[in-house]
Amino acid sequence: MKKLRARLALAAVLCAAGTLHLSAAAAPREIEITANDQMKFGVTAIEAKAGEQLKVVLKNIGTLPKEAMGHNWVLLKPGTDLNAFAMAAMTAKDTDYVPAAHKDKVVASTKVIGPKQTAEATFTVPAAGEYPFICSFPGHYMLMKGTLTVK
Ligand code: ZN
Repeated sequence: MKKLRARLALAAVLCAAGTLHLSAAAAPREIEITANDQMKFGVTAIEAKAGEQLKVVLKNIGTLPKEAMGHNWVLLKPGTDLNAFAMAAMTAKDTDYVPAAHKDKVVASTKVIGPKQTAEATFTVPAAGEYPFICSFPGHYMLMKGTLTVK
């Protein structure tokens, strides 16, 4: 363990000096977002850099059944009409409430999960901008929303 730590420290030094370039296969940065029975996301603001790999892990910490209180996490392009998206999502149960007609506005999304379940979405952070994210389960987006700010 000590040896590994020393090696990591060395790698950090080399990296700072610009002599070591880590490959693009670097592990994505993980962000855990909880969702609960009160229709709240545990994280409503995320900051990221364009080109960065992000892994969003959605964790349903509620107890109500999926049919009544399921949650997902849907990241949308800047300027997306959230109201229109959420309206269309209401009838898109078969596709985890991601409506096919609005798929071009989706940057990343998870499936819908029930209590004690987790789901993830790994993606490359797009160009700078303000990307809204919501839970598109019927009736949730007014409370379950946030923003990914890309710089
Ligand atoms: Zn929800």
